[in-house]
Order: sequence, then structure tokens, then C-alpha cells
Amino acid sequence: MRVLGIETSCDETGVAVYDSEQGLMAHALHSQVDAHAVYGGVVPEIASRDHIRKLSPLVDQALAESGSAAGQIDGVAYTAGPGLMGALLVGASFGRSLAWAWDVPAVGVHHMEGHLLAPLLESPAPDFPFLALLVSGGHSMLVAVHGLGRYQTLGQSIDDAAGEAFDKTAKLLGLPYPGGPALAKLAEDGDPGHFNFPRPLTRRPGLDFSFSGLKTAVAYALRDSEERPGLKADMARDFEDAVVETLTLKCRRALKQTGLDRLVVAGGVGANQRLRDRLGEMAREQSVDLHFPRLEFCTDNGAMIAFAGYCRLQGGESLTPEISARARWPLDELLPPAA
Ligand code: ATP
Ligand code: MG
Ligand code: FE
Repeated sequence: MRVLGIETSCDETGVAVYDSEQGLMAHALHSQVDAHAVYGGVVPEIASRDHIRKLSPLVDQALAESGSAAGQIDGVAYTAGPGLMGALLVGASFGRSLAWAWDVPAVGVHHMEGHLLAPLLESPAPDFPFLALLVSGGHSMLVAVHGLGRYQTLGQSIDDAAGEAFDKTAKLLGLPYPGGPALAKLAEDGDPGHFNFPRPLTRRPGLDFSFSGLKTAVAYALRDSEERPGLKADMARDFEDAVVETLTLKCRRALKQTGLDRLVVAGGVGANQRLRDRLGEMAREQSVDLHFPRLEFCTDNGAMIAFAGYCRLQGGESLTPEISARARWPLDELLPPAA
């Protein structure tokens, strides 16, 4: 079975072809970063228009790269939510129209299920069940994953997501959009231990996150510090350490609580090297099997949507009912594939 996947939930246009025999055959990505950078954040209307411009050429490119003629595609998967409504509708209309024209099923994929399954594109792929740490621009969640569509949210952010905290703190430090990778780069030049930033919600029980206070702590530290060379790099380092330590502690707690011995990390913040290293140490100490997607599949991409769509079609899902897109969509509402 060969599936074309389309991702347009935010500011990346991603298209990919996944084949059950040959694996990932092609993936193409267009990032809109330059279009939004002047505004310091994603402008929804610009995002929708840019998806319209780029989607068709990227589909052509992915089909060509995979050597697929239209008749060789057995299903079309598109991101149906959550995300920016206008941006989602571009991918949904395009995907459903292609499927209709090719007379194959169309399947609407939950964006976070896409992120969550991305590590399964790597080998060795993790088996179910596992604990998933989903840390992206809009979500921070710990999920017990019992199987495809069998998700139990154990904890989530009560305010800012981890990626959002990176982006907002980067802005405070005067870094260009998108802030997360820029902050991580600046932190490489910093010395740890200058600022005593909080590890939010780690002292009380529970698996929820809260990152907005951490961003405020950076704002105060910035206000109260004398300018000196290396100040912002040190601050970036201590901020990054605070996020990484908090995420690591909550993962360890969730593993203990659930008795799971496999941890899967996904979402844009999963590209953070210090997080990957620190979770690696924790996993070794706790004899936990740890899985990440490759760096380029941590952030938004079409490959994860093609793969999630394939999993659903192969599981017997024949066609997503007449939904087009949903701006909000709790992951817990998903069910295993249904014909
Ligand atoms: P969601 O998936 O929740 O809808 P999104 O699609 O915008 O949100 P992703 O594409 O998964 O999120 O990830 C983007 C986020 O990851 C941004 O907040 C970005 O700053 C962050 N990010 C990317 N690379 C890094 C890094 N190396 N270190 C820290 N944060 C990073
Ligand atoms: Mg993005
Ligand atoms: Fe995402």
C-alpha cells in the first residue's frame, strides 16, 4: 500500500510518499519561516496563501521522487487538525480532491498522532506500548500509548507549551524568529549555573507542565542584570537547562508511575540536543529503551502524516467521514482505525 501524505497545519508545507514495502519513498518540505519572520510570528492568512502556492509543486515533486504514477497511490492522508483553520483547509481540500480524482480513500490525520508516530519511521521502531513525550510549538504532553489510536494523556501544559516557551524567551533575549533553535544555539556559548531558574511543578506530584513562569523569570533576570559580555548566552543556557531538567524529571516520574520501560520523544523540541543527551543519560540509568525521530522529522513534515495515514488505512480505516478540518482536537478523542 502506498500513501501520499500532506501536512499544512501551520507554517510548513510537507508532502511525502510512504510505501508498506519500501518505507518512506520521498518527502518534500517548504518552510514559510522567511515569510513570517518580519512579523515575529506566524500570520495565519499568509500561511494559508503560501500553502496554496506550494502544495501542488510539492505533490508533483514527491510523486516524481518516489517514481509514483497517480494510479500507484492507494490513499491520501492529510492533516485534519489541530492547527490553523485556514491552513488546514488548504491541505484538506487538496487532499480530498486528489483522493476523489484518483478514486482512493482519503484519511484525515490528527497532527499530534503524526508527531507521535514519527519515531516509528526509524529503525529499530519502538513497539507498543510506550510512553510518549510530545513537545512541540503548541503542545507539551505525556501520553501512555497502548496502540494505534489508544492514547491516554497523563499530563499536559497548563499554560505555555515547551516550544512556545523557547520561542517567547528567545524573543526576550532579542533573538530572531523562530526562536527555539536560535536560543539553543546561543546556549552553546553559555556557562551554566548563573541564574537559578525554577523547575516548574516538579516539587509537587503530578505530570502537568507549566512553562510561562519560567519565561517570566528570564524577563526579571534580564531586567535586574548588568549588561556584560556573555550575559544572554548564560541566560539561554540556564533557561534551556531548566526546561530540559523539568522534562526529564517528568518523564522519569511518568515511567515509574506507568511501569512502562520504553520512551518515545517527538515534536519540534525533540530536536533539542541537550534534551536528547539528558534523556539519553536518564534512559541508561533507568534501563529504558529510548526512541527519537531523526532531527528533520521532529518539526512538522509530510512523512509523519503519510505514515500515520498508512497506519490508519492499513488498520482498516476506509475513509474519514465528512469532516474537513478541526482547529481544536483533543488527542484522547481518537479511536483505533474504524472502517
Ligand atoms: P504543534 O505541533 O503543537 O501544532 P508546531 O507544529 O508549531 O506545534 P513543531 O513544528 O513540532 O510545532 O515544533 C516547532 C517548535 O519546536 C517551535 O516552538 C521551535 O522553537 C521548537 N524547536 C525546534 N527546534 C528546537 C531546538 N533545537 N531547541 C528547542 N526548541 C526547538
Ligand atoms: Mg513550524
Ligand atoms: Fe507540529
